[in-house]
Amino acid sequence: LTDRPGRVVAQLEERGLDALVVTHLVNLRWATGFTGSNGAAIIGRDERVFLTDFRYTERAQHEVPDFERVKAGRDLLADVAARLSGRVGFDDAHMSVREHARLRELAADVELVPTAGLIEALRAVKDEGELAAIRAAATLANGAYEMLAEQGLSGRTEAEVAWAIERDLRERGAQALSFEPIVAAGANGALPHALPGDTPIAPNTLVVLDLGCIVDGYCSDCTRTFATGPLDDELEQAYELVLDAQQRSLAAVVAGATCSAVDAVARDIIDAGGHGERFGHGLGHGVGLEVHEAPRLGQTSEEVLTAGNVVTVEPGVYVPGRFGVRIEDLVIVGHDGPEVLTAFPKDLTRVG
Ligand code: ZN
Ligand code: ZN
Repeated sequence: LTDRPGRVVAQLEERGLDALVVTHLVNLRWATGFTGSNGAAIIGRDERVFLTDFRYTERAQHEVPDFERVKAGRDLLADVAARLSGRVGFDDAHMSVREHARLRELAADVELVPTAGLIEALRAVKDEGELAAIRAAATLANGAYEMLAEQGLSGRTEAEVAWAIERDLRERGAQALSFEPIVAAGANGALPHALPGDTPIAPNTLVVLDLGCIVDGYCSDCTRTFATGPLDDELEQAYELVLDAQQRSLAAVVAGATCSAVDAVARDIIDAGGHGERFGHGLGHGVGLEVHEAPRLGQTSEEVLTAGNVVTVEPGVYVPGRFGVRIEDLVIVGHDGPEVLTAFPKDLTRVG
């Protein structure tokens, strides 16, 4: 495995910091391996201290072997503060105002420096172990589409189909879902985050199926849009437009590309197809321990893609009151182009 605390220290040196306090649990898991619900770490040039309360000391022995481990009170801040000195970074995006005030009081001689996003930026570049978990989570998601293609959709309710997806993913080894599956038929498909409903899915419409699951803590996220029988030309054309935008923006996903430029590839195609104002969200997002993380692929995103990023490419067209189309692949960014993890075909799948 890569030396994650070492990557943190390189950042500290660049910013002239003596240490970083890690309190946000997702960042703590990434930096230390700890999967419990109460812990903190102090990472500095010469120190790697992990603090947790009595409930987790045994777990920490297995999960955090490379850190000096400290058994602290359930409120960890007093023990954290006692070990700080100099210029210390803290996570101003996640630490509460109350915790910050307390830390300031307890460590009055310490200069607390806001460093939100420091670990998130490091998390955006995955190591081999992380990629293996994401590949496994994506493979399970692929299987869910095969199951749906085989079973068909019309006549079942969105909620039934959502449950079938959840059961299938769990039975085949997912530890949890990345999010509640989106099963959005007909007009519901025009709501990018629709909740599955209780009306039966109609024939001759489009159904947006957005799903993902978690393996070893890492998420997958993909979308396919299926047709329940022959469609109106308008729907067919919208599907082909989104497919074209998806394939061409996917080809632009390469290390060194600016995220906004990749977004623009898809947006220009959808604009030219007359649906410009019906693609209301960004092209994609990073995926890892969280289903939405850095980098963000959007119109205003100045981030640059790096080899080892894992991102989604998911253009959509949403026609209010009528239908929606979204096609989302999960991909690993490489120097020569993307490694696509979503294997299920993108040509329109027609089911019963
Ligand atoms: Zn999705
Ligand atoms: Zn997504």
